[in-house]
Amino acid sequence: MIPQANPQAGYLARKEAIDAAVLKALESGCYILGPEVEHFEEEFSRYLGVAHAVGTGNGTDALQLALRAAGVGRGDVVATVSHTAVATAAAICQAGAEPLFIDVDERYTMDPSRLEQGLSDFARSPAAARGARVRAVIAVHLYGHPADLPALLQVAERHGAYLIEDCAQAAGAELAGAKAGCFGHLAAFSFYPTKNLGALGDGGAVVTSDAELAARARQLRQYGWHNRLSILAGGINSRLDELQAATLRVRLPWLDADNASRREIAGYYGTHLKGVTLPDSREGCRHVYHQYVIRSSRRDELKRHLEENGVGSAIHYPVPVHLHPAFGAALVAEGGLAVTERVCGEILSLPIYPELSGQSREMVCRAVNLFGER
Ligand SMILES: *Cc1c(COP(=O)(O)O)cnc(C)c1O
Repeated sequence: MIPQANPQAGYLARKEAIDAAVLKALESGCYILGPEVEHFEEEFSRYLGVAHAVGTGNGTDALQLALRAAGVGRGDVVATVSHTAVATAAAICQAGAEPLFIDVDERYTMDPSRLEQGLSDFARSPAAARGARVRAVIAVHLYGHPADLPALLQVAERHGAYLIEDCAQAAGAELAGAKAGCFGHLAAFSFYPTKNLGALGDGGAVVTSDAELAARARQLRQYGWHNRLSILAGGINSRLDELQAATLRVRLPWLDADNASRREIAGYYGTHLKGVTLPDSREGCRHVYHQYVIRSSRRDELKRHLEENGVGSAIHYPVPVHLHPAFGAALVAEGGLAVTERVCGEILSLPIYPELSGQSREMVCRAVNLFGER
Protein backbone atom coordinates (compact mmCIF):
# COMPACT_ATOMS: atom_id res chain seq x y z
CA MET A 1 0.00 0.00 0.00
CA ILE A 2 1.36 3.44 -0.92
CA PRO A 3 0.76 5.55 2.20
CA GLN A 4 -0.84 8.98 1.81
CA ALA A 5 1.87 10.50 4.05
CA ASN A 6 5.16 8.97 5.18
CA PRO A 7 7.02 10.76 8.00
CA GLN A 8 9.30 7.72 8.48
CA ALA A 9 10.65 8.07 4.94
CA GLY A 10 11.44 11.69 5.80
CA TYR A 11 13.44 10.59 8.85
CA LEU A 12 15.29 7.82 6.99
CA ALA A 13 16.26 10.22 4.19
CA ARG A 14 18.38 12.22 6.69
CA LYS A 15 18.86 9.59 9.39
CA GLU A 16 22.60 10.00 9.93
CA ALA A 17 22.49 13.77 10.31
CA ILE A 18 19.39 13.68 12.53
CA ASP A 19 20.77 10.90 14.74
CA ALA A 20 24.02 12.82 15.22
CA ALA A 21 22.24 16.09 16.02
CA VAL A 22 19.85 14.43 18.48
CA LEU A 23 22.71 12.57 20.19
CA LYS A 24 24.64 15.81 20.56
CA ALA A 25 21.59 17.46 22.14
CA LEU A 26 21.10 14.48 24.46
CA GLU A 27 24.69 14.66 25.63
CA SER A 28 24.59 18.44 26.10
CA GLY A 29 22.58 18.14 29.32
CA CYS A 30 20.29 20.97 28.21
CA TYR A 31 16.83 19.90 27.13
CA ILE A 32 14.47 22.89 27.15
CA LEU A 33 15.02 26.35 25.62
CA GLY A 34 18.75 25.91 25.16
CA PRO A 35 21.19 26.70 22.34
CA GLU A 36 19.47 24.45 19.75
CA VAL A 37 16.19 26.35 20.13
CA GLU A 38 17.99 29.68 20.06
CA HIS A 39 19.88 28.77 16.89
CA PHE A 40 16.79 27.35 15.24
CA GLU A 41 14.78 30.50 16.01
CA GLU A 42 17.56 32.57 14.45
CA GLU A 43 17.88 30.35 11.36
CA PHE A 44 14.16 29.99 10.79
CA SER A 45 13.45 33.73 11.04
CA ARG A 46 16.33 34.41 8.62
CA TYR A 47 14.96 31.79 6.20
CA LEU A 48 11.51 33.39 6.25
CA GLY A 49 12.69 36.98 6.15
CA VAL A 50 11.06 38.02 9.44
CA ALA A 51 12.77 39.59 12.45
CA HIS A 52 11.69 37.14 15.18
CA ALA A 53 10.75 33.49 15.66
CA VAL A 54 9.58 32.04 18.99
CA GLY A 55 9.60 28.25 19.32
CA THR A 56 6.51 26.69 20.89
CA GLY A 57 5.27 23.25 21.92
CA ASN A 58 3.05 22.80 18.83
CA GLY A 59 1.22 24.71 16.09
CA THR A 60 -2.06 25.10 17.96
CA ASP A 61 -0.25 26.80 20.84
CA ALA A 62 1.63 28.97 18.34
CA LEU A 63 -1.74 30.23 17.04
CA GLN A 64 -3.04 30.77 20.57
CA LEU A 65 0.12 32.65 21.57
CA ALA A 66 -0.03 34.79 18.42
CA LEU A 67 -3.62 35.73 19.27
CA ARG A 68 -2.82 36.49 22.89
CA ALA A 69 0.29 38.47 21.94
CA ALA A 70 -2.02 40.59 19.78
CA GLY A 71 -4.20 41.17 22.84
CA VAL A 72 -7.06 38.90 21.78
CA GLY A 73 -8.98 37.49 24.73
CA ARG A 74 -12.36 36.92 26.32
CA GLY A 75 -15.25 38.62 24.55
CA ASP A 76 -13.31 39.07 21.31
CA VAL A 77 -14.18 37.56 17.95
CA VAL A 78 -11.66 36.16 15.46
CA ALA A 79 -12.60 35.68 11.82
CA THR A 80 -11.28 32.53 10.16
CA VAL A 81 -12.31 29.71 7.82
CA SER A 82 -14.24 26.56 8.60
CA HIS A 83 -12.47 24.59 5.86
CA THR A 84 -9.30 23.95 7.91
CA ALA A 85 -7.80 21.72 10.57
CA VAL A 86 -9.93 22.00 13.69
CA ALA A 87 -6.77 23.28 15.43
CA THR A 88 -7.24 26.73 13.87
CA ALA A 89 -10.60 27.20 15.60
CA ALA A 90 -9.48 25.40 18.78
CA ALA A 91 -6.69 27.96 19.21
CA ILE A 92 -9.22 30.82 19.00
CA CYS A 93 -11.28 29.22 21.78
CA GLN A 94 -8.15 28.56 23.87
CA ALA A 95 -7.36 32.27 23.67
CA GLY A 96 -10.83 32.89 25.16
CA ALA A 97 -12.28 34.29 21.93
CA GLU A 98 -15.00 33.14 19.57
CA PRO A 99 -14.56 32.19 15.89
CA LEU A 100 -16.53 33.87 13.10
CA PHE A 101 -16.44 31.60 10.06
CA ILE A 102 -15.92 33.05 6.58
CA ASP A 103 -16.33 31.08 3.36
CA VAL A 104 -13.39 30.04 1.15
CA ASP A 105 -13.01 30.40 -2.61
CA GLU A 106 -12.58 27.54 -5.10
CA ARG A 107 -8.85 27.35 -4.22
CA TYR A 108 -9.70 26.62 -0.58
CA THR A 109 -8.48 29.83 1.06
CA MET A 110 -10.43 32.69 2.64
CA ASP A 111 -12.38 34.75 0.11
CA PRO A 112 -11.42 38.42 0.69
CA SER A 113 -14.80 39.74 -0.53
CA ARG A 114 -16.60 37.40 1.87
CA LEU A 115 -14.33 38.62 4.67
CA GLU A 116 -15.22 42.23 3.89
CA GLN A 117 -18.91 41.32 3.89
CA GLY A 118 -18.57 39.28 7.09
CA LEU A 119 -16.76 42.01 9.00
CA SER A 120 -19.14 44.75 7.82
CA ASP A 121 -22.18 42.64 8.77
CA PHE A 122 -20.69 41.81 12.15
CA ALA A 123 -20.04 45.48 12.91
CA ARG A 124 -23.82 46.05 12.59
CA SER A 125 -24.82 42.94 14.59
CA PRO A 126 -26.36 42.81 18.09
CA ALA A 127 -23.14 41.20 19.38
CA ALA A 128 -21.16 44.23 18.18
CA ALA A 129 -23.70 46.52 19.85
CA ARG A 130 -22.94 44.68 23.11
CA GLY A 131 -19.25 45.49 22.63
CA ALA A 132 -17.86 42.39 20.88
CA ARG A 133 -15.15 43.23 18.37
CA VAL A 134 -13.39 41.29 15.61
CA ARG A 135 -9.83 41.75 16.84
CA ALA A 136 -8.03 39.41 14.46
CA VAL A 137 -8.35 37.47 11.21
CA ILE A 138 -6.61 34.11 10.83
CA ALA A 139 -5.95 33.25 7.18
CA VAL A 140 -5.01 29.62 6.56
CA HIS A 141 -2.66 28.66 3.72
CA LEU A 142 -4.47 25.39 3.30
CA TYR A 143 -2.64 22.51 1.58
CA GLY A 144 0.44 24.76 1.18
CA HIS A 145 -1.24 27.28 -1.13
CA PRO A 146 -0.89 30.90 0.04
CA ALA A 147 -4.13 32.74 0.74
CA ASP A 148 -4.65 36.09 -1.00
CA LEU A 149 -2.67 37.95 1.67
CA PRO A 150 -2.48 41.47 0.20
CA ALA A 151 -6.27 41.59 -0.21
CA LEU A 152 -6.95 40.00 3.21
CA LEU A 153 -4.51 42.36 4.93
CA GLN A 154 -6.23 45.36 3.40
CA VAL A 155 -9.65 44.22 4.65
CA ALA A 156 -8.34 43.32 8.12
CA GLU A 157 -6.61 46.68 8.55
CA ARG A 158 -9.63 48.61 7.30
CA HIS A 159 -11.58 46.96 10.13
CA GLY A 160 -8.86 47.48 12.75
CA ALA A 161 -8.06 43.77 13.07
CA TYR A 162 -4.71 41.97 13.19
CA LEU A 163 -3.96 39.54 10.36
CA ILE A 164 -2.46 36.26 11.57
CA GLU A 165 -1.26 33.67 9.06
CA ASP A 166 -1.81 29.99 9.84
CA CYS A 167 1.31 28.66 8.07
CA ALA A 168 1.08 25.15 9.55
CA GLN A 169 0.83 23.65 6.04
CA ALA A 170 2.86 26.26 4.19
CA ALA A 171 6.52 26.27 5.36
CA GLY A 172 8.47 27.61 2.40
CA ALA A 173 5.45 28.70 0.33
CA GLU A 174 5.79 32.08 -1.40
CA LEU A 175 3.62 34.87 -2.63
CA ALA A 176 5.01 37.66 -4.84
CA GLY A 177 8.53 36.49 -4.05
CA ALA A 178 8.17 36.63 -0.25
CA LYS A 179 7.65 33.71 2.11
CA ALA A 180 4.30 32.94 3.69
CA GLY A 181 4.66 34.19 7.26
CA CYS A 182 6.00 37.63 6.23
CA PHE A 183 2.70 39.26 5.36
CA GLY A 184 0.57 39.16 8.50
CA HIS A 185 1.24 40.97 11.77
CA LEU A 186 2.04 37.52 13.13
CA ALA A 187 2.18 33.97 11.76
CA ALA A 188 2.09 30.51 13.30
CA PHE A 189 3.87 27.35 12.14
CA SER A 190 3.46 23.70 13.12
CA PHE A 191 6.31 21.18 12.98
CA TYR A 192 4.04 18.13 13.39
CA PRO A 193 5.93 15.21 11.75
CA THR A 194 3.94 15.15 8.49
CA LYS A 195 4.18 18.90 7.84
CA ASN A 196 6.56 20.18 5.13
CA LEU A 197 9.06 21.09 7.85
CA GLY A 198 8.45 18.32 10.37
CA ALA A 199 10.01 17.47 13.72
CA LEU A 200 10.00 13.97 15.24
CA GLY A 201 7.39 14.93 17.79
CA ASP A 202 5.43 18.11 18.45
CA GLY A 203 6.73 21.60 17.78
CA GLY A 204 5.66 24.99 16.49
CA ALA A 205 6.69 28.63 16.18
CA VAL A 206 5.24 32.13 16.28
CA VAL A 207 6.94 34.54 13.89
CA THR A 208 6.64 38.30 13.51
CA SER A 209 8.71 41.32 12.56
CA ASP A 210 7.24 43.36 15.43
CA ALA A 211 9.63 43.28 18.40
CA GLU A 212 6.89 44.03 20.93
CA LEU A 213 4.61 41.23 19.68
CA ALA A 214 7.57 38.82 19.69
CA ALA A 215 8.50 39.77 23.26
CA ARG A 216 4.91 39.22 24.38
CA ALA A 217 4.72 35.79 22.68
CA ARG A 218 8.05 34.88 24.31
CA GLN A 219 6.73 35.77 27.77
CA LEU A 220 3.40 34.04 27.28
CA ARG A 221 4.95 30.74 26.14
CA GLN A 222 6.49 30.39 29.60
CA TYR A 223 3.87 31.28 32.23
CA GLY A 224 4.17 35.00 31.48
CA TRP A 225 7.62 35.52 33.02
CA HIS A 226 8.98 38.99 32.54
CA ASN A 227 12.69 39.54 33.37
CA ARG A 228 12.56 36.39 35.56
CA LEU A 229 11.16 38.58 38.30
CA SER A 230 7.48 38.98 37.80
CA ILE A 231 4.55 37.57 35.87
CA LEU A 232 2.92 40.33 33.84
CA ALA A 233 0.14 38.34 32.21
CA GLY A 234 -1.08 34.80 32.79
CA GLY A 235 0.76 32.72 30.23
CA ILE A 236 0.89 29.05 29.36
CA ASN A 237 3.66 26.48 29.19
CA SER A 238 4.45 25.76 25.55
CA ARG A 239 8.14 25.41 24.75
CA LEU A 240 10.01 23.89 21.83
CA ASP A 241 12.43 21.28 23.18
CA GLU A 242 16.11 20.87 22.28
CA LEU A 243 15.70 17.48 20.56
CA GLN A 244 13.03 18.82 18.21
CA ALA A 245 14.99 22.00 17.56
CA ALA A 246 18.11 19.94 16.74
CA THR A 247 16.06 17.86 14.27
CA LEU A 248 14.55 20.96 12.69
CA ARG A 249 18.01 22.52 12.26
CA VAL A 250 19.06 19.47 10.22
CA ARG A 251 15.95 19.70 8.08
CA LEU A 252 15.60 23.43 7.48
CA PRO A 253 18.44 23.60 4.90
CA TRP A 254 16.61 20.87 2.92
CA LEU A 255 13.19 22.50 3.03
CA ASP A 256 13.41 24.18 -0.38
CA ALA A 257 14.67 20.97 -2.03
CA ASP A 258 11.92 18.94 -0.32
CA ASN A 259 9.29 21.44 -1.45
CA ALA A 260 10.72 21.30 -4.99
CA SER A 261 10.20 17.51 -4.89
CA ARG A 262 6.60 18.02 -3.79
CA ARG A 263 6.07 20.48 -6.64
CA GLU A 264 7.62 18.05 -9.11
CA ILE A 265 5.23 15.31 -7.97
CA ALA A 266 2.33 17.76 -8.27
CA GLY A 267 3.50 18.56 -11.80
CA TYR A 268 3.55 14.86 -12.67
CA TYR A 269 0.05 14.37 -11.26
CA GLY A 270 -1.14 17.46 -13.11
CA THR A 271 -0.11 16.09 -16.49
CA HIS A 272 -1.11 12.44 -15.94
CA LEU A 273 -4.35 12.44 -13.94
CA LYS A 274 -7.61 12.26 -15.86
CA GLY A 275 -11.28 12.50 -15.00
CA VAL A 276 -10.88 14.48 -11.74
CA THR A 277 -10.67 18.18 -10.90
CA LEU A 278 -7.04 19.19 -10.30
CA PRO A 279 -5.81 21.75 -7.76
CA ASP A 280 -5.21 25.22 -9.06
CA SER A 281 -2.89 27.90 -7.74
CA ARG A 282 -3.24 31.66 -7.80
CA GLU A 283 -0.85 33.58 -10.04
CA GLY A 284 2.40 34.65 -8.41
CA CYS A 285 2.21 31.89 -5.78
CA ARG A 286 4.69 29.18 -4.94
CA HIS A 287 2.37 26.36 -3.80
CA VAL A 288 4.30 23.82 -1.68
CA TYR A 289 1.74 21.02 -1.86
CA HIS A 290 1.52 19.96 1.75
CA GLN A 291 -1.44 18.09 0.27
CA TYR A 292 -2.32 17.33 -3.33
CA VAL A 293 -6.10 17.59 -3.32
CA ILE A 294 -8.27 16.53 -6.24
CA ARG A 295 -12.05 16.68 -6.48
CA SER A 296 -14.52 14.08 -7.69
CA SER A 297 -18.30 13.96 -7.52
CA ARG A 298 -17.88 10.24 -6.67
CA ARG A 299 -15.23 10.84 -4.03
CA ASP A 300 -16.13 8.06 -1.57
CA GLU A 301 -16.28 5.48 -4.36
CA LEU A 302 -12.95 6.71 -5.73
CA LYS A 303 -11.35 6.48 -2.28
CA ARG A 304 -12.50 2.84 -1.93
CA HIS A 305 -11.30 2.04 -5.45
CA LEU A 306 -7.84 3.49 -4.68
CA GLU A 307 -7.61 1.46 -1.51
CA GLU A 308 -8.44 -1.73 -3.44
CA ASN A 309 -5.62 -0.80 -5.83
CA GLY A 310 -3.01 -0.24 -3.12
CA VAL A 311 -3.17 3.55 -3.01
CA GLY A 312 -3.74 5.32 0.30
CA SER A 313 -5.66 8.60 0.33
CA ALA A 314 -7.18 10.90 2.94
CA ILE A 315 -9.84 13.60 3.29
CA HIS A 316 -8.70 16.97 4.63
CA TYR A 317 -11.27 17.54 6.04
CA PRO A 318 -14.48 15.48 5.86
CA VAL A 319 -16.49 17.72 8.22
CA PRO A 320 -16.10 21.53 8.24
CA VAL A 321 -15.30 22.91 11.68
CA HIS A 322 -18.66 24.70 12.09
CA LEU A 323 -20.55 21.39 11.68
CA HIS A 324 -18.78 19.71 14.61
CA PRO A 325 -20.93 19.62 17.77
CA ALA A 326 -18.28 21.52 19.76
CA PHE A 327 -18.59 24.48 17.35
CA GLY A 328 -22.34 24.31 16.82
CA ALA A 329 -22.88 27.70 18.45
CA ALA A 330 -20.06 29.46 16.57
CA LEU A 331 -20.76 32.53 14.48
CA VAL A 332 -21.14 32.04 10.75
CA ALA A 333 -20.88 35.03 8.43
CA GLU A 334 -24.15 36.02 6.79
CA GLY A 335 -24.48 34.35 3.42
CA GLY A 336 -23.29 31.07 4.87
CA LEU A 337 -20.49 28.72 3.94
CA ALA A 338 -21.71 27.26 0.64
CA VAL A 339 -18.29 26.59 -0.93
CA THR A 340 -16.96 25.07 2.31
CA GLU A 341 -19.93 22.74 2.62
CA ARG A 342 -19.84 21.71 -1.05
CA VAL A 343 -16.11 20.97 -1.41
CA CYS A 344 -15.84 18.81 1.71
CA GLY A 345 -17.91 16.14 -0.04
CA GLU A 346 -15.64 16.07 -3.12
CA ILE A 347 -12.06 16.53 -1.96
CA LEU A 348 -9.48 13.76 -1.77
CA SER A 349 -5.80 14.02 -0.82
CA LEU A 350 -3.48 11.77 -2.87
CA PRO A 351 -0.09 10.50 -1.64
CA ILE A 352 2.50 13.27 -1.63
CA TYR A 353 5.87 13.51 0.17
CA PRO A 354 9.38 14.20 -1.12
CA GLU A 355 10.43 10.52 -1.03
CA LEU A 356 7.45 9.24 -3.09
CA SER A 357 9.10 7.13 -5.83
CA GLY A 358 8.56 7.46 -9.58
CA GLN A 359 6.97 4.01 -9.62
CA SER A 360 4.53 5.00 -6.88
CA ARG A 361 3.56 8.20 -8.73
CA GLU A 362 2.75 6.11 -11.81
CA MET A 363 0.73 3.67 -9.73
CA VAL A 364 -1.30 6.50 -8.19
CA CYS A 365 -2.14 7.96 -11.61
CA ARG A 366 -2.95 4.57 -13.11
CA ALA A 367 -5.33 3.78 -10.25
CA VAL A 368 -7.11 7.16 -10.47
CA ASN A 369 -7.42 6.98 -14.26
CA LEU A 370 -8.68 3.40 -14.16
CA PHE A 371 -11.56 4.62 -11.99
CA GLY A 372 -12.50 7.24 -14.59
CA GLU A 373 -12.50 4.66 -17.39
CA ARG A 374 -14.78 2.19 -15.62
C1 LIG B 1 -1.39 20.98 11.78
C2 LIG B 1 -2.19 22.22 11.77
C3 LIG B 1 -2.36 23.03 12.91
C4 LIG B 1 -1.96 22.62 14.28
O1 LIG B 1 -0.68 22.18 14.48
P1 LIG B 1 -0.34 21.19 15.69
O2 LIG B 1 1.15 21.24 15.69
O3 LIG B 1 -0.89 19.85 15.36
O4 LIG B 1 -0.92 21.74 16.93
C5 LIG B 1 -3.04 24.23 12.77
N1 LIG B 1 -3.55 24.62 11.60
C6 LIG B 1 -3.43 23.87 10.49
C7 LIG B 1 -4.03 24.36 9.21
C8 LIG B 1 -2.77 22.64 10.54
O5 LIG B 1 -2.69 21.89 9.43
